[in-house]
Amino acid sequence: MELDAGEEGIINKKIESQFDTVKIMTVHSSKGLEFDYVFLPYLVARSFPSDQKSDPIEIPRDLVKEVLPGGDFHIQEERRLFYVALTRAKKGLFLTWSTDHGGKQLKKPSRFLNFLPDHFSYSQLESFRKCPLEYKLKNILKIKTRGKSVFSFGKTIHSTLHRFVEKSLKEKVSLEELLNIYDEEWIFDWYQSEKEREDFYNKGKESLKLFYDDFKKNNNVLIIDEEGALEKDFQIKLNGDVVIGKIDRIDEIEGGVEIIDYKTGSPKKTLTKDDKLQLLIYALATKKVLGLNPVKSTYYYLDDCSKASFDVKDKMIEETESEIKELISKIKRSNFKPSVGWHCKFCDFRDICAHKKI
Ligand code: SF4
Repeated sequence: MELDAGEEGIINKKIESQFDTVKIMTVHSSKGLEFDYVFLPYLVARSFPSDQKSDPIEIPRDLVKEVLPGGDFHIQEERRLFYVALTRAKKGLFLTWSTDHGGKQLKKPSRFLNFLPDHFSYSQLESFRKCPLEYKLKNILKIKTRGKSVFSFGKTIHSTLHRFVEKSLKEKVSLEELLNIYDEEWIFDWYQSEKEREDFYNKGKESLKLFYDDFKKNNNVLIIDEEGALEKDFQIKLNGDVVIGKIDRIDEIEGGVEIIDYKTGSPKKTLTKDDKLQLLIYALATKKVLGLNPVKSTYYYLDDCSKASFDVKDKMIEETESEIKELISKIKRSNFKPSVGWHCKFCDFRDICAHKKI
């Protein structure tokens, strides 16, 4: 059969269309086709994804003119191919593997069968709340997406502030030094044009000047073990699941601590219940993992140094814990149906999603 299929990966036999038939083909040759039921057998390690084969004639890197992609390019390509296979099915999809395929060695399942992530972050939970299909494409099928200027900018500002505040807790740091740190931390990638890059750069500079003045007046960073409470990583265990995250800054205030999350997006004056979830997850971690008493949570908008805060109550933390457990349980039971809406406009997968709202 393999010989018959040849390089096309498909057997070209004319079969009467009124009969139910089984078509055997490679994933490559299934591109653009759809079937009621699709079976993907032999999903074992070293088969899918396949081992990378080296080029028969290796070309010295110095002679290659184009920029080679970073990361494990072969695995990324195989994952895209796997996604093609999954999306051929209209009614049912069967993925199979077994340990014994006749050889001496027992097989292990393909890494692509490890569907659910072993941890959950706020952004993952938020993605699921917005559109379960988006969550699946990003976190289960792990489809790579292009970087975005807002992420480059956000990362630059966060790492600049981290270095500046950390240094300021030990010595006096001038505005010039802060702007030098900004230049050192600047991430050049993913801006769509030179103009966009310049606009973001100038906007960042103005934000940092405002931040500098504000920090001089309001430096209450909590000190833990002689270190400022900055970019605190956490892991919370809930019913055997792990929720991870990073808190930008914790300040000491009367009666306990204030959790601060820096935002580079548009400032908000009032926060909805959904807006508060991220800060409430951080409050839960502050209490459960760091053993502190969170009494206030704040989004700090760097655009104009405005703040949107709310008081944290024990009841809110308890409700947040239940909400996270419920969300994780929904993810585990989900069939990841698309939830179409205005957010499709900003979705990373709108180019490949057939359900998007235009
Ligand atoms: S385009 Fe819309 S429906 Fe499709 S995955 Fe994205 S958010 Fe969901």
